[in-house]
Amino acid sequence: MSAPFKLAPLPWADDALAPTISANTISFHYYKHHQTYVDTLNKLVEGTKFADMKLEEVVQATAGSADAKEKTLFNNAGQVWNHDFYWRSLTPSQTAPSGALDSAIAEAFGGKDELIAKLADAGKTQFGSGWAWLVSKDGKLSIEKTPNAETPMAKGVNCLLTVDVWEHAYYLDYQNARPKYLETVLGKILNWEFAAENLAKESTPVRAAAE
Ligand code: MN
Repeated sequence: MSAPFKLAPLPWADDALAPTISANTISFHYYKHHQTYVDTLNKLVEGTKFADMKLEEVVQATAGSADAKEKTLFNNAGQVWNHDFYWRSLTPSQTAPSGALDSAIAEAFGGKDELIAKLADAGKTQFGSGWAWLVSKDGKLSIEKTPNAETPMAKGVNCLLTVDVWEHAYYLDYQNARPKYLETVLGKILNWEFAAENLAKESTPVRAAAE
């Protein structure tokens, strides 16, 4: 079986985010949940036009489809992309936002603490499974939340950071306390350097064509 989509390596060691996110959570979340989305995606695309697309193209091509098979494809492709983006949104060596990102945060929210409060609120109020996002449009930052496998990227929105609020992301470490998980993750391990890189990418007009 051809397997065009791969499980991207974690950007840090399994235990690097502990105690905020334990190695035990990573062992299930990355090695079981994320791996299963990749494996299922590879099975679904086998022998189809989607096998030759980039992951982002599969997500965008199947978003909003009424076809049951394409919906399943979207769910798995979206979850592969979202999880890879989530791991890169987290870091064991957090730095403060600086430069253009810091200015954009000040303009949109007043400051980092206000941004974090709004991002946490999006995560807390996402009913059921989903994601909270920091996104940018024309350099202006805003917060979004999406259910299940949905992602702002599907509509071409530039994503800066995400936090997974599916129960599997926090239940082993925080049980049902999603607000505590959000408060701890957002305060301690959010990767502002990744956000800054993504903000800078938005100003590159030929992003898709250049790849
Ligand atoms: Mn997850």
